[in-house]
Amino acid sequence: MKEKIYTIPVNEAYDKDCECPLCELEKQLEYEAVEYALGAAMMEPDFRIESNEKGYCNRHFKQMFDAHNKLSLALVLETHLIELRKKLDGLEKAVNTAAAGKSGLFKRNTAAETAAEDISAVFGKVECECMICQKINSTTKHYIDVLLYLWATEEEFRAKFERSKGVCLKHFKILCEAAPKHIKSDAGKFIAALAAKEKKELERIQEDIHRFTLKFDYRYNDMEWGTAQDAPLRTIEKISGYITPYDDKEKN
Ligand SMILES: [Zn+2]
Ligand SMILES: [Zn+2]
Repeated sequence: MKEKIYTIPVNEAYDKDCECPLCELEKQLEYEAVEYALGAAMMEPDFRIESNEKGYCNRHFKQMFDAHNKLSLALVLETHLIELRKKLDGLEKAVNTAAAGKSGLFKRNTAAETAAEDISAVFGKVECECMICQKINSTTKHYIDVLLYLWATEEEFRAKFERSKGVCLKHFKILCEAAPKHIKSDAGKFIAALAAKEKKELERIQEDIHRFTLKFDYRYNDMEWGTAQDAPLRTIEKISGYITPYDDKEKN
């Protein structure tokens, strides 16, 4: 049996009636990571050094902004900004060379192209090194490993999996990629079972979103909403993962 630390949350997520249990797990991880970044992490020098260097992506800055802890946020921003300014200073030589319009006789690139590449390399990294994304991704890898293991070894979990509404397409892809690495001989069966489930669940979503559009036609005024009332949100979440705003977390 894999570590309980991961099997319990995976089982609990599969007990919920939701469009994607892995998104449910990520939602919780995300909430905890935002709380941590603005709370306990403030007292962790190692974390602060790393977060000053790496920073956060736009999605997670937005959630930190919504978390109503503006002093912690400002302190995080202040020290992160110092590091960002150092990165910009480090590019000064390339920028000056570009301004002078120099281009080495035998060099493939112009000075402007080289400066643009250097800037892109430095600031492109800032967006994809987000501390919260990294935390979520590394823990989700364990959840996926455990999910596959449970599916391959526990009858009870496999029944839960069959009763579930599948996963979002983001996690569909990730699970299929992971299956051959983690459950080897059972991977084919798992991929087939998940693909069949996704086919059925996307059909259900399609019916819901169509029903939603019909409600805007006066001829269908009296039609019951059924499960279609929140179809746009659930359809987006089924296609690309959850978008529930940070503030709504408590309601889930
Ligand atoms: Zn998902
Ligand atoms: Zn992020």
